[in-house]
Amino acid sequence: MSVVSVRPRFGPVLVAAAVAAIGLSACGPGLSSGAPGSTVSVVTTTTVFADMISNVGGAYVHVTSLAGKNADVHTFEPKPADIQTIANAKLLVMNGLGLDDWLERAITNGSASGTPLVKLGVDLPSVELLPGEGPGTQNPHLWMDVKYAELYVDRIAAALKSVDPARARPYDNQAVAYKARLETVDAGVRSKIAAIPEANRRIVMFHDAFPYFAREYGITIVGVAVEAPGQDPSAGYSAELIRAIRDAGVKAIFSESQFPTKLLDELASETGAKVVANLYDDALGDPPVTSYEALIGWDVDQLVTALR
Ligand SMILES: [Zn+2]
Repeated sequence: MSVVSVRPRFGPVLVAAAVAAIGLSACGPGLSSGAPGSTVSVVTTTTVFADMISNVGGAYVHVTSLAGKNADVHTFEPKPADIQTIANAKLLVMNGLGLDDWLERAITNGSASGTPLVKLGVDLPSVELLPGEGPGTQNPHLWMDVKYAELYVDRIAAALKSVDPARARPYDNQAVAYKARLETVDAGVRSKIAAIPEANRRIVMFHDAFPYFAREYGITIVGVAVEAPGQDPSAGYSAELIRAIRDAGVKAIFSESQFPTKLLDELASETGAKVVANLYDDALGDPPVTSYEALIGWDVDQLVTALR
């Protein structure tokens, strides 16, 4: 079917665990880890990961997200002030897999300090990666599957313990408590999706942020409106997508609030599907979407409302 050529499914890729570290010259001011009263300065790429790190690190970390709420993380460009923030970090956290490679470029081009760099999405144990937008790439949006987000939490805890071993116990305890809450979030997603009639569990997305969510929770992604972030799709691509939407009887086309809806409005007028333009994935938003847990709950509620 033509849909599969839009979103090919590859076989499982089993990858081994690893934490990437980049060693570079010149130490920033930094903070002495574990010293009484000090906090560990952690810099990450998105507000989603910043929230996860805050949950694991609690009062012992000071977390900065370079891309703000409602930002387009894929196309973000660090400014000079961001470069300084990166240089002052004790720990750098990114996703990898093409989501936020601009952090790695900024480190390579500028000043950072033998600072450990952790890639949350790379080489996670037992994760089956799905293909990304370009040849040979992998989809980076692993955290939209809450089970995979729990693996991110493990890696965050390991990273914090390695830069601040004196607080290993609180980091472990906070990670355990956070993962227990994520288990509840995961169960909530499953029970809410179960309320959507099976024939309606088909969607089109603005960008390709939901394949892991869809695989885990039983949603079919019929197509994605943009072939690559920041690029308009070709006429042929859009025509194929319109055909796929009609063939599958897709009821709703979903987007994130930070992206323009013009393209989706065109798809909707061609197909009769409605546009729901308030999902969140790569970045947190305004209240109530101010945490990863709230983000998942919000998105599921939008899906259920649009599809049931
Ligand atoms: Zn994305």
